[in-house]
Amino acid sequence: MSENSTEPLMENPAAEKSGRAESIVLVNTGDGKGKSSAAFGVMIRGIARGWDVAVVQFVKSGNWNVGEEKIGRQLGVDWFNEGEGFTWNSEDLEHDKAVARKGWAQAQSLIEANEHQLIVLDELTYLINWGWIDPEPVYEAIRNRPPKVNIVVTGRDAPQELIDVADTVSEVRKVKHAFDEGILAKKGIDY
Ligand code: ATP
Ligand code: MG
Repeated sequence: MSENSTEPLMENPAAEKSGRAESIVLVNTGDGKGKSSAAFGVMIRGIARGWDVAVVQFVKSGNWNVGEEKIGRQLGVDWFNEGEGFTWNSEDLEHDKAVARKGWAQAQSLIEANEHQLIVLDELTYLINWGWIDPEPVYEAIRNRPPKVNIVVTGRDAPQELIDVADTVSEVRKVKHAFDEGILAKKGIDY
């Protein structure tokens, strides 16, 4: 599969592949740092092309006030906070589940509305993996999306069915993480 990166490529590897998709589904998964950061990099690219962009942030709660939200809103992104924070801080998991279902309903209607060319569904995999939402409608909604709606999904342990509906799937592998040395998330770097 992978090309030998020690030699310069002398032929355009895309030469025989001239197809252009109307839209792409990206999944950023794995246990290393960079899944959401990469998604927000794509958000920036979409904005640069004049796209209407929406971001739905699951799990992370509205009062975290993450940097990406601040800048995203400034740049005109339609931003939806659909989380209640870490499960280990939760006092009522049933409430969190209800929030998750409402969040997915919001994401689903955004996809169907066909008003954005890019929709980022940040940390969506957790809702599936924890059994908080029914996964089949998620795969259906992505598979049957309006043709020009690009979608980025982030989160660890992407289920196989999600990988199957995606075009490009990247796994960020942890080589090291500061957290393991007891260093907490840092403003400007992690949020
Ligand atoms: P980022 O938003 O920095 O790109 P991410 O989306 O890849 O990170 P998440 O699992 O969403 O990773 O992580 C949420 C928070 O936990 C971030 O502050 C991130 O820096 C941190 N984090 C990411 N990977 C790890 C890890 N392997 N161990 C501990 N903390 C992590
Ligand atoms: Mg993330």
